[in-house]
Amino acid sequence: MAKKRKIKKPIKIGFLLIIFLTVIVFSGTKFYKDYLYKQTYEYKLLEINYTLDESKTLIKFLNSQELDNILTKEKDNNIVKLVSEKYFIYKNIERYLNYIEKNDLKNISNAIVMVNVNRDRDYYEEPIKANLEDKELMLVNKYHYLEENYEPDNIIKISPSYAYEGNSINEDVINAFKELAAEAKNAGYTIVINSSYRDYNSQKEVWESRKSLYGTRKADAYAARAGYSEHQTGYAIDVADFYDENDKFGETESFTWMKENCYNFGFILRYPDDKEDVTGYSYEPWHYRYVGRKTASKIKNENITFDEYYAFYIENKS
Ligand SMILES: [Zn+2]
Repeated sequence: MAKKRKIKKPIKIGFLLIIFLTVIVFSGTKFYKDYLYKQTYEYKLLEINYTLDESKTLIKFLNSQELDNILTKEKDNNIVKLVSEKYFIYKNIERYLNYIEKNDLKNISNAIVMVNVNRDRDYYEEPIKANLEDKELMLVNKYHYLEENYEPDNIIKISPSYAYEGNSINEDVINAFKELAAEAKNAGYTIVINSSYRDYNSQKEVWESRKSLYGTRKADAYAARAGYSEHQTGYAIDVADFYDENDKFGETESFTWMKENCYNFGFILRYPDDKEDVTGYSYEPWHYRYVGRKTASKIKNENITFDEYYAFYIENKS
């Protein structure tokens, strides 16, 4: 009997020990799990009053550095709406929020478009030097400029079969234009180049003559200031219909053809009529910009301007 009792006691102790350890492990695991959860962005975002769905949206679209930054701000429903927009750029977040606050917007994506192309700032206010390394994707607009002494390479004279006298342009551009002109001709249209590469000083003359005729505001709407013209890049052309006596390219069938087909040759209609707010220029049916085929079709497919393309696909990704 005594022997039996001796065996039973350690079993009992062992049994109690197992229960005891199990409780410790379970509660320890739970404690540890809570601890881990408190380290997550989901928990931290819930702590500053985002809902679970909102937190999940923020986590889906933002990286950890961006989320850390969100945690320093007060909860803002507009942030949740902004992050899931296609052309959202994180570094612009404060500017988007300011723009939304100051403007009566129908759609939050307007804030994204306008801020991405710097329209929350005045023209010529904080000029940015154009990046010459972007080549045919170089952006020159009312915020990005070329210096007075900038003269592009590979500028060649255009043969009189394609342009009025005195025109010269980047070699890639004229090669693409030759193909375009041949295709247009097959369709029955004669498209010629009116104006092409302009150096700083000739742009200065264009703008100043407009200014003396119409004043600064109108001159700015219809011509670029020296250094801010795409024509100085060597990648922009103004075209005309050779047989158009009215000198209104936008009303010709050549224009309809050009608008539909220029993308296949690497050109884009640079200042469309429904995008004046974005480009900062009045509608110019005659002005085309060479960006290469790949970019031209992307811009057409996404129905965006070159300014928007540059902000999102070039500046933002570099
Ligand atoms: Zn032009």
